[in-house]
Amino acid sequence: MNEFQLSQRLETAASFVKKGARLADIGSDHAYLPCYLAQKGWITSAIAGEVVLGPFTAAKKQIEQSNVCEVVEARLGDGLSVVEPEDHIDTITICGMGGDLIARILDAGKEEQRLKGIQRLILQPNNSEPKLRMWLLTNGYKIIEEKIIEENEKIYEILVAECSVDLEPYTENDFLFGLFLRKEKSPIFKKKWQAEIKKYQYILNSLAQSTRDVSDKKVETEKRIQQIKEEIL
Ligand code: SAM
Repeated sequence: MNEFQLSQRLETAASFVKKGARLADIGSDHAYLPCYLAQKGWITSAIAGEVVLGPFTAAKKQIEQSNVCEVVEARLGDGLSVVEPEDHIDTITICGMGGDLIARILDAGKEEQRLKGIQRLILQPNNSEPKLRMWLLTNGYKIIEEKIIEENEKIYEILVAECSVDLEPYTENDFLFGLFLRKEKSPIFKKKWQAEIKKYQYILNSLAQSTRDVSDKKVETEKRIQQIKEEIL
């Protein structure tokens, strides 16, 4: 991966950035995504935000090497604290982190009024996607697209959301599986949930050997297996 050739995961996230966007890429180790978009002339400006010095230094270096200093600026700071009103950022990408951490970054950003003017959030959580969907919907963001991809034997979901007053009610299954992903039911989607069934079956086997009273946990696990089976069949 470099500024010319992104991983499929980052390429998918980048594909949802609108032409002319003013972007903040938070957790921007190496700043590959903003450098790639700047080199293509796709974005007006970008901040590459990093909280850790090593990746921040790598981002700065990459921006210089890619010759995009006029468009991309690396900033050291926690989450959305690197975004100032005068940046007029309209798009945020947060990729490659746990869903809980992404939700915490968004929460803190909202608290500090740093989400004002943001039209689009493009998120690629490594896990806890249902929690992130919950965060988006309870904070006035409508999920407008979802993608599921597989790269290097890992499956990733990419969520795209926009600020909206027109929020559809979500069912439990929409949160768990993703409204768009469960409509599409792609082979990768099925593969992900078949693997989840296996994990739950393993848990069930372990519970069967337990000497403690785990009946509630057993019922809960069996219910989840059934829920997934009904979804992917
Ligand atoms: N976004 C890149 C990608 O998807 O390939 C890098 C992902 S890397 C696994 C996660 C990066 O997020 C790390 O460089 C880490 O230092 C940074 N990070 C974690 N928490 C952060 C926070 N609160 N604010 C800014 N950056 C953060």
